[in-house]
Amino acid sequence: MQLSLFPALQTNYFWLLQPDDSKSVAYIFDPGDATAVKQQLQARGLTLAGIVITHHHWDHTDGIDELVADCKVPVYGPRSDKIPQVDHVLSEGDKLTLGPLTLDVLETPGHTLDHISYLLQTPEQDLLFCADTLFAGGCGRMFEGSPEQFLSSLNRLKALPERTQVCCSHEYTVDNLRFAQAAEPDNRAIAERLARETEKRRQGQSTLPSTIGLEKQTNPFLRTDSPSLKASVKKHTGLKAPREHEVFAALRQWKDRFKAN
Ligand SMILES: [Zn+2]
Repeated sequence: MQLSLFPALQTNYFWLLQPDDSKSVAYIFDPGDATAVKQQLQARGLTLAGIVITHHHWDHTDGIDELVADCKVPVYGPRSDKIPQVDHVLSEGDKLTLGPLTLDVLETPGHTLDHISYLLQTPEQDLLFCADTLFAGGCGRMFEGSPEQFLSSLNRLKALPERTQVCCSHEYTVDNLRFAQAAEPDNRAIAERLARETEKRRQGQSTLPSTIGLEKQTNPFLRTDSPSLKASVKKHTGLKAPREHEVFAALRQWKDRFKAN
């Protein structure tokens, strides 16, 4: 198996998975731009075997029509009126077989209601394709779900083994960590990670994938049960005894308005 990522559009990453080293076929996750995908396939000498979709936003789906017209491959994804191209509908508990690999489908609503994530667990490594649900250092904007729903999705991902690699869809890590630092100024792990990730970006490297273990230490949206973060949210909002989903909602609103210096 080989997994790679490449930048596309403004801030997206597309993940390319070759399930079988002996075959030159690959699956693309969330192709928001067909030209970028075709260039990568050609450069790597790969044939497209299928398209895997997490949710309906254009930057994850706009390349589907052109790729299917060219390659007539199956399109896997959630049930959604907004993604009529999906011809293999997946929901909670389903298995997705890609060559020799089997991925678990998790429904993770919050960013959108149709958002699903894919989990691959092998003896060697665990991979989570979580698109715009969980980011490195942050989470997606809450466009459609409720705080309870989004928090419940994130708490499921947080319960995965710490070694699980977080393969999300955007390079927002440094901005996310600037907010994380504002939300939890005494957290040394955040300051250290911010310095490391800033250096990676300065050198033109991606900050992805992250791991669930690292996110639990440094991502405020996975730390809504942390006393220090809760104290900071109480101070910021004036809430007296916020419940966990209220901490999440307050953080999400705070982040939406946050301008990093
Ligand atoms: Zn999205």
